[in-house]
Amino acid sequence: MLSRSLNKDIGELLIEGGFITTRQLDKSKERVTSTNEPLQKTLVKMGYVSEKDITEVIGKQMGVEFVDLDEIELEPDMVRSIPEHLAQRYKVVPVAQKDNKLTLAMVDPLNVIAIDDIRLITGFDIEPVIATEESISKTINRQFGVTDLAEVQETVKDISATDFGPVEIEEAADEEIALDKLKEMVDEAPIVRVVNLIISQAINDQASDIHIEPEHKQVRVRYRVDGVLHDVMTPPKHIQAPMISRIKIMANLDIAERRVPQDGKIHLRHDNREFDLRVSTIPTVHGEKVVMRILDKTSVLLGLNKLGFYRDTQEIFEHCVEKPYGMLLVTGPTGSGKSTTLYSCLNKLNTENVNILTIEDPVEYQLPGINQVQINEKAGLTYPGALRAFLRQDPDIIMVGEIRDTETAKIAIEAALTGHLVMSTLHTNDSAGATTRLVEMGVEPFLCASSVIAILAQRLARLICPNCKEAYTPPIESIKQFGLAAFTEADITFHRGRGCDHCKMTGYRGRTGIFELLNVTDRIRSLILQRASAAEIRQASVEEGMKTMQDDGLRKVLDGVTTIEECLRVVYVEGSDF
Ligand SMILES: [Zn+2]
Repeated sequence: MLSRSLNKDIGELLIEGGFITTRQLDKSKERVTSTNEPLQKTLVKMGYVSEKDITEVIGKQMGVEFVDLDEIELEPDMVRSIPEHLAQRYKVVPVAQKDNKLTLAMVDPLNVIAIDDIRLITGFDIEPVIATEESISKTINRQFGVTDLAEVQETVKDISATDFGPVEIEEAADEEIALDKLKEMVDEAPIVRVVNLIISQAINDQASDIHIEPEHKQVRVRYRVDGVLHDVMTPPKHIQAPMISRIKIMANLDIAERRVPQDGKIHLRHDNREFDLRVSTIPTVHGEKVVMRILDKTSVLLGLNKLGFYRDTQEIFEHCVEKPYGMLLVTGPTGSGKSTTLYSCLNKLNTENVNILTIEDPVEYQLPGINQVQINEKAGLTYPGALRAFLRQDPDIIMVGEIRDTETAKIAIEAALTGHLVMSTLHTNDSAGATTRLVEMGVEPFLCASSVIAILAQRLARLICPNCKEAYTPPIESIKQFGLAAFTEADITFHRGRGCDHCKMTGYRGRTGIFELLNVTDRIRSLILQRASAAEIRQASVEEGMKTMQDDGLRKVLDGVTTIEECLRVVYVEGSDF
């Protein structure tokens, strides 16, 4: 991000533009004094403003146009009219060329050295425009990196069976010999290259998981992108053993052991970002299956404003997060983005004058300045045990990865009642189910009623690809079929993605949260005390103005953020009365 000083203070400009409030600016400046990070980075980290908004404001101040690289289709030949090392060094991307003029998207449009260099190399006059650092890095990766998996597949094809001789690792009679051979093979250039390509391509595609699955005659490689698995390639069977062994070596696993599950970690840097890959193996009938979960350490520095809240909901939620004590719960199934929400809250609260402790299983992301503890059941470090020890460590804020037993629930509630802000997750379908779940777990209703501040239920829905988004009018029968009685034929427009290169023909790119925030008011508190059912609590909340996940999802459909199919898939759960 830009570090040069501007004529006018960026903070003032953002206030003038209505992006942040004076109070938010003061809080950020306070944080800057302890971290020494640039103010604009801090504002983004604290979730007050997006990198895009700041970049737009800076562009306006400099008098250069802002471009959103995610929204425009780029000509690959034009982008590659400058060499990759210059694009990387100066963080620039050519976006248009006309007559003798090259329009160059830059992180820092005042960088005259970059402009001179690129003018000399291309022979064009340069017209600088501004874009976010994130979008420029992504574009460079996409345009100069492996453009598609065809290249990976080609590399794989080049590795013929004869390179490794006829050794059938899985059926080798003598394990020792096979292992020696395997140890040689994993360092061979083609294997190293294939594994590197599989990982780097997954990162470029923003996949969350890589699955490597041995089948009878081939190996299947799949990526999970935006929550959905996609086939990406099928390497031949003969490279299965060296490929999997290579990954196991990178993750410090025992390559001689192929009959029991193992798990480990790979730490790597890719395009100046740090990643951890959590690797797990299990033996299957066709060989070891490997799953790698990609943990992007930079992407969790998401602010609350990037999760997909509407402004009204976010304001209420922020208000709850800033309470000095009490319990805040986030509910939803696995993979619904609960951890990201909690990390964003912690990130917002993380200042030098508070002591934050987390207990997690596992620690997914490491946050600077926060004391994170990993549960280790084998060594006797359990949730309740760690939580008790925590309370002797003078914490202000405690994050408990998940409340899954009565003892944890009771200690967490007690902590919330004795002056600590406790955040945790619960496995319930909706927000109203959380308090009744706690009571079922044996927490006294009056303790539950007096400690819980709010419950956020959430899901993740895929976003429509902005590049190929189109509007359409759904046929009236399908609206009826969805049971959306509130809609009439005349005034309805939905959106969907046609499918394009940017979204790998899926029509979706990225995900957003769908939320339901239950604020524990006096009325809800008395219902909890009376051991009211989840349905009664839900009804009362709706009467008090709660927007349900269904409401939030439909609002996002009508705003053209996601599709009706996606909304139905993620929020209209079975047994729901909607
Ligand atoms: Zn698209």
